[in-house]
Amino acid sequence: MVHTTCPYCGVGCGIVAGPDGRGGASIEGDKEHPANRGRLCSKGAALGETLSLEDRLLYPEIDGRRVSWDTALDKVASGLREIIAKHGPDAVAFYVSGQLLTEDYYAANKLIKGFLGTANIDTNSRLCMASSVAGHKRAFGSDTVPGRYEDFEQADLVVLVGSNLAWCHPVLFQRLEAAKRERPQMKVVVIDPRRTETCDIADLHLALAPGSDVALFNALLVELKRRGVVASDFVEGHTNGLDAALAAAIGNVDVCDLPLGDVAIFFDWFCTTEKTVTLYSQGVNQSSAGTDKVNAILNCHLLTGRIGRLGTGPFSITGQPNAMGGREVGALSNTLAAHMDFALADVERVGRFWKSPRMASKPGLKAVDLFEAVGRGEIKAIWIMATNPVASLPNADAVRAALQSCELSIVSEAIRASDTVDACRVRLPALAWAEKDGTVTSSERSISRQRPFLPPPGEARQDWWILSQVARRLGHSAAFGWNGVADIFREHAALSAFENNGVRDFDIGEQAVIDDDAYEALQPFTWGKSRFFSDGAFYHPDRRARFVATPARAPLNAPDTERPLRLNTGRMRDQWHTMTRTGKSVRLAGHRAEPTVEMNPGDAATRGLQNGDIAEVASSWGRAALRVQLSDAMRPGEIFVPMHWTAQVSRAGRINGAVNPAVDPVSGQPELKHTPVDTMRIDVQWHGTILARRPIMLPDIAYWTRIKGSGFDAYLLAGEEPLAAARQKLSAAIRATNPGPWLDGEAGVGTVIGDGVLEAAMILGETRDETARDRLTPFMAMGRLTVEQRNVLLHGGDAADRGGEICACFGVSTASVTAAIAGGATSLDGVGAATKAGANCGSCRPEIRALLRAARTRQAA
Ligand code: SF4
Repeated sequence: MVHTTCPYCGVGCGIVAGPDGRGGASIEGDKEHPANRGRLCSKGAALGETLSLEDRLLYPEIDGRRVSWDTALDKVASGLREIIAKHGPDAVAFYVSGQLLTEDYYAANKLIKGFLGTANIDTNSRLCMASSVAGHKRAFGSDTVPGRYEDFEQADLVVLVGSNLAWCHPVLFQRLEAAKRERPQMKVVVIDPRRTETCDIADLHLALAPGSDVALFNALLVELKRRGVVASDFVEGHTNGLDAALAAAIGNVDVCDLPLGDVAIFFDWFCTTEKTVTLYSQGVNQSSAGTDKVNAILNCHLLTGRIGRLGTGPFSITGQPNAMGGREVGALSNTLAAHMDFALADVERVGRFWKSPRMASKPGLKAVDLFEAVGRGEIKAIWIMATNPVASLPNADAVRAALQSCELSIVSEAIRASDTVDACRVRLPALAWAEKDGTVTSSERSISRQRPFLPPPGEARQDWWILSQVARRLGHSAAFGWNGVADIFREHAALSAFENNGVRDFDIGEQAVIDDDAYEALQPFTWGKSRFFSDGAFYHPDRRARFVATPARAPLNAPDTERPLRLNTGRMRDQWHTMTRTGKSVRLAGHRAEPTVEMNPGDAATRGLQNGDIAEVASSWGRAALRVQLSDAMRPGEIFVPMHWTAQVSRAGRINGAVNPAVDPVSGQPELKHTPVDTMRIDVQWHGTILARRPIMLPDIAYWTRIKGSGFDAYLLAGEEPLAAARQKLSAAIRATNPGPWLDGEAGVGTVIGDGVLEAAMILGETRDETARDRLTPFMAMGRLTVEQRNVLLHGGDAADRGGEICACFGVSTASVTAAIAGGATSLDGVGAATKAGANCGSCRPEIRALLRAARTRQAA
C-alpha cells in the first residue's frame, strides 16, 4: 500500500493506494492523514476509475508526428535559445499549474527566472487565489495563511464568503458539518449570491448582489468600530492604517441588495462572537475587486484581533492541490522564490543562491496579459505545463488563436485529448498523478508526499526531468544536475532558510539536510508556526499589519440593455477542472451529465425558455450552447454555468470562451464570475441520446455532449435540422464506426446489434426524453441479447427511470432515494440504511437533505 495525496482540491486529503498489478489500484482515505482522517469525497473516492491509459499522451510529438525525446528536447532548447538571442528573454514564457508538484514547480521557476532571465512565468493558480496572495501581502507583509482547518471546528461563528464548500472542498465541509452537529450552537453564515448546497448547514444565507462583498465588509468594519468591538491593544501595538480604512469604509450597504434585518443579524453575530473564522474562496478572489474583497475581510479580523488564535481568523481556501506549493516556490510572475519578491535585495539573494547567470529583475506578465502578449506576437515561445488554458482562461477563443499563431508552442501534458494539446506544436508526455513523485502543500500549509504507485507509461517523464534536460542543453548542467526529487526538495528547503533570520514566514530549512530515506518516509507536516500572528509579529519591515482602505466599487463590465444578465461560472460536485480525469469515471458522470445554464424561472420565462431547452449564452467575447436548468437558487438577473466542459466533450459547452478578460488591478486575477451576457433559445427540432461502444464522428449539430458509460460513450444531443434528416445523418455516423446491421424499433429507437450484442443505440424524438440514457444503459451491459431483451429494447418495456445519480459512491439514483423517502425514511441515516446513499464519502448528503426537505414540505402542504 502506498500513502499519497489526492490530486484534486486544496484540502489535500491523504490517500492509501493499493496497486493491483494490472494498471489499476484500490483507493481509500488515509486514516492517519491530518486533513481527512480517512474521509474522501466522491471525486477522491473515484480516483481508481481515472487511472487508465486511455487518452494519455505517451510519446513526444512535433507537429503531430512522434519523435524521440532527444529530438523533442533539442527542439525546445534550440527554439528557446534562438528566440532569446533574437528577441530577448521576455519573448519566452511558461504557463504552469497548481497540479505540478512542488519539485516540478521549483525546477520551472528556477529555469525561467534564474537562467532564461525573465519572470514571464505564471500559474493557473492566478485564476484561483492570486487575490488572496495580494491581499495577504498588503495586510501582513507576506503571503501567510494564519490558521488551520481545526479552527473551523473550534469556532463559534463560521462565515463562508464566496465558497460552495460542500461541492468544492467537500471533506472540509464534512468536518464543519460534523462540528456543527456536535455543537449545534455554532453559527454558520453563507455569503453568496447563489443558494448553494453549502447553505444546507447555514443558519443564515446572505444572497448579496454579485460584487458587493466589499460594501458589506466595509459596513461591518464601521459597525464593529461603532459598537466598540475593537482589540485596542492589538490594533495600537501591531497595526497601521485604521483611520484611512474606516474613512474609506463609510458607504451604503444598500448596494448589497439584502434584507436589512438579515444584515443586522450577521453584524450582531460577528460583533458578539469572539471565536469567528471567515473562510473565503473563488467568489471573493475571482473578481475585479478581489484583492479589496480580501482586505475588507482581513480588516475586520485585524480590528477585532481575531487572528492567530484557536477558532479565529481569516482563511483563504485554495482550489488546487498544490496552489500553496506554487506560492512557496514563487511560480506567480510577480513573486520570486521562497516567499521573496522582486526587491533588489531579494533578486540578489536568490541569484547568489542559484548561482544564476541571468536573473530576472522585474515581475513578469500575469496570465491574462501573458496570453494577450502571445496573441500580439510579443511572446514568441510559450511552454505550458499541466494545464488547459484554452478551456480555463477567460476569453478562451483568443487564447486558442494566440497559441495557434505562436512561433513555438510547447505543452507538457499527461493527457492527449485536451483543447490546449490540440493547439500546441511540441507535445511532451508528462507523468500523471499515480506515477509522480514529490510533495504538495495544502490550504493549511501542510506539506505531504505524493508518491508514485504505478510505473511510468510509454515514454512519459516527470516535469522536473523534462525541465532539467532542457536546462542542461542550454548549458546549465551544474544548476540542474539533480538526481531525483529529494535533491530538489532539499534545495528548495535550503533556499527558504537562506539569509532568512526570521524575516520571511516561509522557512523549512530543517528539511534541507534530510536524506533520501527520510524524504521517502516524510510524514505530513505544517510549515511555520501552528498559527501565525497571535504575537502581532507581521512581515512588513516595521512588523506591523496594515489596514487597507477599500472603497467599494462596481464590477468592471456591468450588464446593460443588450447584455442584461450576469454570468457566474464555477464548479460541479463531481467534476474537476476540465474533466481530463474525472471525465473518465462512469460513476462521476452520473451526477450532472451535461453543461447547463442555471437560471431563475422569471428570467427564463421572459426569454421563452423552459427546463431542458437548449440556450445560447452570448457575451461580447464569445458564446456557448447549454442545457437550460431552472433554479430558484439563482437571483433574478444572474445565471450560473459550470466551467468544466471543453471542446473535447461538448459542441459548445466551453463557457470560458464567453467570459470577459477583466482582471483585478492589483492581483491580475480574472473576473470569472461577472460577465454581462444574454441568453436566448436555440430553436432545436429534436433531442436525442446515443450510446455507442466506439467513438462517433458527429456531424455538425447545435448541441451535443459526451459522457462516460461503462464500456461505451453516451452522447446527449439536440439539433435545428428536421428530425428525419438528423436521424439519417446520425445513424450513418454511428454505423461508420460501430459494426453490425442497423435495426429500427418503435418510438424513435435505432440500434446496431452485431453478433447478438448491442454495439450502439439511439433514441431521437421531437421532445426531450430524459430517461433514454437510463433505459438504454442496461442493454449495453447484457452481452448477447435474448429475443425477449431485443424486443424490449426495440419495442419498449418497463425499464426504470433512475432520474439521474445522486450518490456516486454506491451508484444510487435520485429515484431510489425518493422511493426510500416515500417508504418512510425521514432522515439521512434512514435513507442511508435503505439505499446506502450518503453512507460513504458524504458528498451527496446536501442533496439528500434537499429531497427530505422537499418531501416534508409536500407533506405539510
Ligand atoms: Fe480530494 Fe475531495 Fe479531499 Fe478535495 S476534499 S482533496 S477532492 S478527496
